[in-house]
Amino acid sequence: MLQDKDRIFTNIYGMHDRTLAGAKARGHWDGTKDLIGLGRDKIVEIMKASGLRGRGGAGFPTGLKWSFMPKESDGRPAYLVVNADESEPGTCKDREIMRHDPHTLIEGCLIASFAMNANACYIYIRGEYIREREALQAAIDEAYDAGLLGKDAAKSGWDFDLYLVHGAGAYICGEETALLESLEGRKGMPRMKPPFPAGAGLYGCPTTVNNVESIAVVPTILRRGAEWFAGFGRPNNAGTKLFAISGHVNRPCVVEEAMSISFEELIETHCGGIRGGWDNLKAVIPGGSSVPCVRGENMKDAIMDFDYLRNELGSGLGTAAVIVMDKQTDIIKAIWRLACFYKHESCGQCTPCREGTGWMMRVMERLVKGEAQVEEIDMLWDVTKQVEGHTICALGDAAAWPIQGLIRNFRDEIEDRIKVRRDGTVQVAAE
Ligand code: SF4
Repeated sequence: MLQDKDRIFTNIYGMHDRTLAGAKARGHWDGTKDLIGLGRDKIVEIMKASGLRGRGGAGFPTGLKWSFMPKESDGRPAYLVVNADESEPGTCKDREIMRHDPHTLIEGCLIASFAMNANACYIYIRGEYIREREALQAAIDEAYDAGLLGKDAAKSGWDFDLYLVHGAGAYICGEETALLESLEGRKGMPRMKPPFPAGAGLYGCPTTVNNVESIAVVPTILRRGAEWFAGFGRPNNAGTKLFAISGHVNRPCVVEEAMSISFEELIETHCGGIRGGWDNLKAVIPGGSSVPCVRGENMKDAIMDFDYLRNELGSGLGTAAVIVMDKQTDIIKAIWRLACFYKHESCGQCTPCREGTGWMMRVMERLVKGEAQVEEIDMLWDVTKQVEGHTICALGDAAAWPIQGLIRNFRDEIEDRIKVRRDGTVQVAAE
């Protein structure tokens, strides 16, 4: 279990003072000038050595991503954009940072922007996060008043402006290029890549888009050293991580833990166990709604990190939003609900996603009721395969994977429901 002395987020539950004075008392903004004094190359080097992988879901190495930014400006400004559009069902970790520990993020924005030669950073926050925007804006204002942002930020010699931009509630704006479109004032529709944002991003300028948690951990990593951070978790899965556990556990929570903790320890230590006991565990979605679900019996000993969940269980850590479902759950209906979500959030610009998400949702609806032929399960599988990997952005994959997970793990249950319905014994309704 992670010890309190190793927690990066010391006010995640809002028990303490979230103002600048409180943040400073907890060690934030301590020697920021000296951290910037390390210089650009050294900061990127430390981030690479720390092994931090992006906390927004994809798990791409953060230091490596930063190193893609041009070393010398060709006259265009560079930008850091922080993706605070946390909108995936089950994911609610960045929210806690922004409303209770906002200075971790603001200090991180300054240092990360300096490391990428950016004098400006935009935080794009989810439309529904109104109180979080207020808390974050208040913290930004405080930091400006204290000289930590603006000209000669934190007396570092680096001029830096931080802007908070409020989205309008579309999930697709969490896709990095759709986010940039939205920031520029257009409809949030993903762009074709290449060019990648590091070459031509916001306003056609070099841009890096990072998740809130990825940026908020930067100052502490620099203060405590790459080795300290890399000391948590298995190789290639370093660090501490916010886990957001929801669903059928006794105490749902967001908690910072060491990477590679076992699922059982995570649930027993922080969530008071599974509702009705471990024998009542049916399925887990371990990384936010877009990764495939896993059968309960395969999860108990699972190691909660990127590599184990992908290689051993065919799922993923994603944002570490762990959705737990017990045996009282109608798993077909639960996945149908996710299919509705993705259908609703498709931006519609590419055909496999626009048509496929609706098609998958409608078949799922019939599977919930059992009003289908058994052969249609294979047809549905084929459609998921025609959507996956054939779209401009990852929303197509995100819509396909939960259904693939359902068919792979709970095919027997789908077939049973069809047979029961055909024999006319049980009525199950999708509302
Ligand atoms: Fe839009 Fe879906 Fe295509 Fe992404 S995959 S660009 S959400 S239509």
